[in-house]
Amino acid sequence: MFSSSPASGVAPSAGVVSFEVARRLVEQHATGVHAAGVRVPAVETVDLLTAFGRVLAEPILADRDFPPFARATRDGYAVRAEDVQQVPARLEIVGEVKAGDWPEPRVLSVRHGQAVEIMTGAPLPAGADAVVMVEHTSITEPSPGGKLVEIQQRMNPRENFVPRGAEARAGQLLLDRGLRLDHAGIAIAASVGKSRLLVGRKPRVALLSTGDEVVEIGAKPGPAQIRNSNLYSLAAQVQNAGGEPVRLAIAPDELVRLRSLIEEGLECDLLLITGGVSMGKYDLVEQVLAELKAEFYFTGAQIQPGRPVVFGSCSNKKYFFGLPGNPVSTMVTFELFVRPMMEALAGMTPQKLIFLRAQLKSEIRTKTGLTRFLPAGLSGEFENATVEVVRWQGSGDIAALARANCYVVVPPDRARIEAGEWVSLLMR
Ligand code: AMP
Ligand code: MG
Repeated sequence: MFSSSPASGVAPSAGVVSFEVARRLVEQHATGVHAAGVRVPAVETVDLLTAFGRVLAEPILADRDFPPFARATRDGYAVRAEDVQQVPARLEIVGEVKAGDWPEPRVLSVRHGQAVEIMTGAPLPAGADAVVMVEHTSITEPSPGGKLVEIQQRMNPRENFVPRGAEARAGQLLLDRGLRLDHAGIAIAASVGKSRLLVGRKPRVALLSTGDEVVEIGAKPGPAQIRNSNLYSLAAQVQNAGGEPVRLAIAPDELVRLRSLIEEGLECDLLLITGGVSMGKYDLVEQVLAELKAEFYFTGAQIQPGRPVVFGSCSNKKYFFGLPGNPVSTMVTFELFVRPMMEALAGMTPQKLIFLRAQLKSEIRTKTGLTRFLPAGLSGEFENATVEVVRWQGSGDIAALARANCYVVVPPDRARIEAGEWVSLLMR
């Protein structure tokens, strides 16, 4: 049996770690899931038009050479480069190839002194080894032998066409399993005729909000009640990261009900709990997880917002995160820590976290000791991006976050960053 009095139970073993250590711990576990197939990802077939953001569960091979023929990349004249070493050069026009035409070598080829008019995307006729852009040619007076073209630019062999198979050979791997499909991946699948694709099933991610003050958004909140916005922001982030959100009831700050909801959440592929992980008397999440024999990898990270974040697993490596309930903390800790685990559960190689760099518009003053992720606005134009921290009231200020489009990352040893310095950014 476990106690139902607040915060009296088992203390989790792991401690508070730096941001980098916390991130590496998640990446290590995520890589383990991915490599060892802790959860063998189930697969399903989807239509290519709905495959955006899905993770490939089958390799995509070239079904023929790419390009399938030597393809002109300019409108102009197919020539033999040796004929245009001295310019201007006059060549006899012996035919035309437009996109979609197939120039049978028996019927049309480019011999010494000849040129064939050609359009972008058309196959290069036999004998030609370069395409002169039409801009560098002119048609001369008709001559007894037929139409002549004057070439004004000297050409090297292989200019202005792509040889057959130069992009990929038939049978070559174009996209591997585990790739998350974006528009480029989808274009490749389309180009090899895959109208249906085998993809990983989306991981089911249980979302458990906790707190006696938290109410469903349809309810009229009492004077001290807060609507459950975290459920909705997390559902959006889960979908954005390729998962399927599974909503649980709101857990009160009470052990028995909290435990039964956590157990329900552990049925999914991943459990995300918000709230109840701080040091308060009614922050019971870690206690319940400890009672469920959870293994904790960290119980806090030296970051702000999001310091109380918890990461661990229950029996059979069912991973969970305890995200601090403050809405901005919930959002930031999802991006920093939950994403790689979701990627792994979806069948992807977990991706590294890459920060961008931009110049700071106005100075930042803060305290040392924590890696800070300050909501900020990145603006400017072309190469002249600058970033400025937005005014905010702390980790509960969703309105400030909605005005921001990124976070400025302040390293733990910096109390002051001057205007004009280059800083790291995390886009959101
Ligand atoms: P906690 O992490 O439980 O200490 O909560 C920190 C702050 O976040 C408190 O002000 C809570 O009211 C608020 N909060 C907790 N859960 C939610 C939620 N699901 N939606 C919106 N705010 C929340
Ligand atoms: Mg709470």
